[in-house]
Amino acid sequence: GRNHRVAFEATRGFVGGKVPLGLKRKGLRIVVTGGAGFVGSHLVDRLMARGDSVIVVDNFFTGRKQNVMHHFGNPNFELIRHDVVEPLLLEVDQIYHLACPASPVHYKFNPVKTIISFLSSLLFPLLRPSKFLLTSTSEVYGDPLQHPQVETYWGNVNPIGVRSCYDEGKRTAETLTMDYHRGAQVEVRIARIFNTYGPRMCIDDGRVVSNFVAQALRKEAMTVYGDGKQTRSFQYVSDLVEGLMRLMEGEYVGPFNLGNPGEFTMLELAKVVQETIDPNASIEFRPNTEDDPHKRKPDITRAKELLNWEPKISLRQGLPLMVSDFRNRIFGDHSDANP
Ligand code: UDP
Repeated sequence: GRNHRVAFEATRGFVGGKVPLGLKRKGLRIVVTGGAGFVGSHLVDRLMARGDSVIVVDNFFTGRKQNVMHHFGNPNFELIRHDVVEPLLLEVDQIYHLACPASPVHYKFNPVKTIISFLSSLLFPLLRPSKFLLTSTSEVYGDPLQHPQVETYWGNVNPIGVRSCYDEGKRTAETLTMDYHRGAQVEVRIARIFNTYGPRMCIDDGRVVSNFVAQALRKEAMTVYGDGKQTRSFQYVSDLVEGLMRLMEGEYVGPFNLGNPGEFTMLELAKVVQETIDPNASIEFRPNTEDDPHKRKPDITRAKELLNWEPKISLRQGLPLMVSDFRNRIFGDHSDANP
């Protein structure tokens, strides 16, 4: 049978990334699962810039080689095509576990695998002292009955719906992570990520910001699902990456909400896209998807107090940065610029 043994181990000097006082900080060896994806690749850029050695593990289901190609040839960078549902033996100091299809379109494509991808790779960091950061999601709050959502809220999730593979998969991943924390020698961190946008987002993955931006650029109508009065809070990707790194390096397990408290209805979002791209962009209403949460907004008091973190970039500041990346990718200006 297959040998499902410990897959990520930390054997290097600094437990938990802490360096004895007075010593110059040596680069860490860090695995980023999903490191060729939208959020992962921005995180990789920051870690590389900091001088760490980064191993990206990605199966390229939604990740893209283009997102990390600018590191090819750098001796501190490695890329492994690998699916996290299979075991992998690596010696590292820190693991950022980002691998998972995040768009409903993608995670519904193979729901059983979606659940497995959250869980199986979590079986990896057993035994040895390593630091493991789980990227969980605001979806753990389901269709929330509390607003805004605080980390202590247990959520309102349908266990048998079409979104459940994602919501319940991440909830179970949180459970496993906390059980490791309590039972094994694993230092863990849990981030609950709220809707995030920015350059390198998949153009056609069906998320609302990427849809509206691509549609407005292509002179197509922006598709508003339902009455468009449901809300989301949109965070720019660099703010998220900063939060993830502070969480990993900090002293607290979490979970921490990482999101921008600026709350918008989908109709308001469409308006911001009009202002940014094309005042004449039109809107088209479509039936909403099943179990769509009515509202979502993070309470980030905990991250502010314990991580000294809060988002810096508003939707109106961040959207233009994403739009120029989308413009290049849609209209084929393949300049070397790497957003
Ligand atoms: N949505 C929309 N038009 C689209 C895609 C999504 O109005 O073209 C809505 C969707 O129904 C949901 C919100 O935008 O209420 C956010 O959807 P997304 O898939 O981006 O994120 P999630 O539902 O995971 O928060």
